[in-house]
Amino acid sequence: MPTQQPPRISAANCAFFLDFDGTLVHFGNPDEIVPVVDDGLRGLLLALRDAADGALAVVSGRTVAAIDGLFEPLTLASSGEHGGEWRHLVGEELQSIPVPPGLDAAHKICEAWSKATPGTLFERKGLSLVLHFHRHPELREAAAAVAQSVCTPDSGLRMLHARGMVEIRPVSADKGVAIRRFMELPPYAGRTPVFLGDDVTDEDGFTAVNALDGISVKIGPGTSHARYRLPNEDAVREWLESLIEPAMRQT
Ligand SMILES: [Mg+2]
Repeated sequence: MPTQQPPRISAANCAFFLDFDGTLVHFGNPDEIVPVVDDGLRGLLLALRDAADGALAVVSGRTVAAIDGLFEPLTLASSGEHGGEWRHLVGEELQSIPVPPGLDAAHKICEAWSKATPGTLFERKGLSLVLHFHRHPELREAAAAVAQSVCTPDSGLRMLHARGMVEIRPVSADKGVAIRRFMELPPYAGRTPVFLGDDVTDEDGFTAVNALDGISVKIGPGTSHARYRLPNEDAVREWLESLIEPAMRQT
């Protein structure tokens, strides 16, 4: 159980991998308001990216297109769909893993189940599917049973629990894979990886970063493989701010 605050390190030697929802912005339910990226956050990430010679990426469950829309006009390197797609450098073409063979069949089954089950919401996010039940935690078991039923061995899919939802995702993608992929390439390679995340889906990232002797930071409560912990999104911004040399700060 991580209890300690992450150390004050120099951003100059680090590669930053940042989850979005619940890490950089307050966790937003998809059936409520879309999270807002404020200019303070854009400025902070720009300064941090400069301080780290460009080694900064968002690693999210959202698609890269959605991340781009939220940060507009700022464009960041990013990996979306939990490592299912990625753009290692700004301006580079988006790349992705192949479509899992069982995805379309799983889509039909899960969508039909959600339509017939009040309190749930179905979402297709590119290569993954989500069954939301944010206000009805009692539906988790039923949603998980449906999700598990479509994740047959040859589907190329697996089910994961997350906050207020179950997700169905390609077996070949997770945030750990995403981070390792970044770390093989410049400007990330050779730096100390730093990964911040708040959810169960971030655990693969924490494990990958720990194996690379990096800094893994869990945001908020809950058991985790992360080595450090910060209490909330405000503490994340404060800590990231503290890593930038005063001369690099833009505000
Ligand atoms: Mg998150």
